[in-house]
Amino acid sequence: MSPVSVLLVDDSASQRAVIASRLERSGYEVATATDGLDCLRVLSELRPDIVLLDVVMPGLDGWETLDRIRQTSGVPVIMLTARAEDLDRVRGLRAGADDYLGKPFQQEELEARIEAVTRRAELGRRDGLTGLPNRRTFDEHLDSMFGPDRVPGQPFALVLFDIDHFKSVNDTQGHPAGDRVLQDVATLALRQLRTGEQIFRVGGEEFAIVIPGDRNAGVIVAERVRTAVAEEVRDPKLPTLSAGVAAFPEDASTRDQLFKQADLALYAAKQGGRNVVMLAA
Ligand code: GH3
Ligand code: MG
Ligand code: MG
Repeated sequence: MSPVSVLLVDDSASQRAVIASRLERSGYEVATATDGLDCLRVLSELRPDIVLLDVVMPGLDGWETLDRIRQTSGVPVIMLTARAEDLDRVRGLRAGADDYLGKPFQQEELEARIEAVTRRAELGRRDGLTGLPNRRTFDEHLDSMFGPDRVPGQPFALVLFDIDHFKSVNDTQGHPAGDRVLQDVATLALRQLRTGEQIFRVGGEEFAIVIPGDRNAGVIVAERVRTAVAEEVRDPKLPTLSAGVAAFPEDASTRDQLFKQADLALYAAKQGGRNVVMLAA
């Protein structure tokens, strides 16, 4: 597990220094911002696991900053303030804060709250049935691949795959058997992946894999997954998979184009008889 990364936003240099050094001593990775605008600037460059946001600050205060953060990001936020009145607490939660901590606080309480909030956030990023990262996480991941922190010139491929005639598994063997098929497909697919290749459950019986490299790299991974599932010896047999592959920048220059191209290729794979991998036209 990589350390939890925290963005600490406080206009008081002494508070920042004390809280940051305690967090670092406990193993957190800490970045700091001196006010609301600085916080928004840092967030455009870094993707911390959690933001600790002071309420009373000159310029943009904590509330306004939280509003701005929520326009573009679901990053967990804990509000920190000396004004720990109940009304503030309610306002903080309504405004989209994940938790609220009145100053002064015990370091143990801050860390326990960070743990609780990041644990909840992590649950919201995964699919309960397969344990894979979910659609929301996929969307964020694709955004980041096209965002300003992307390594320029790095090609990557998107594989979309969909289980063939999955509805008939449910219809003939029952919904719980369908659920087990989804879990088995997820496990088998995960086993075919190497470091840097990431899989997501993006829909009911649809999965996506993001792979560093060109469209051929995408096809190789898609074929590996398709074959692994087709050759799995199991009774009853697992259904087959169809896949569509598209790559940036070969097939698309925007995020939406890339998804569209991979989806069209998947559609062609279904039209072409299923249990097959197709490249974007
Ligand atoms: P195709 O080969 O064209 O992909 O046909 P299909 O039957 O796989 O596709 P269709 O989209 O018609 O049906 C998908 C089915 O997947 C319908 C839905 O009930 C089922 N499904 C979606 N999510 C789950 C789930 O979590 N568990 C189970 N058991 N079934 C699910
Ligand atoms: Mg299907
Ligand atoms: Mg489908």
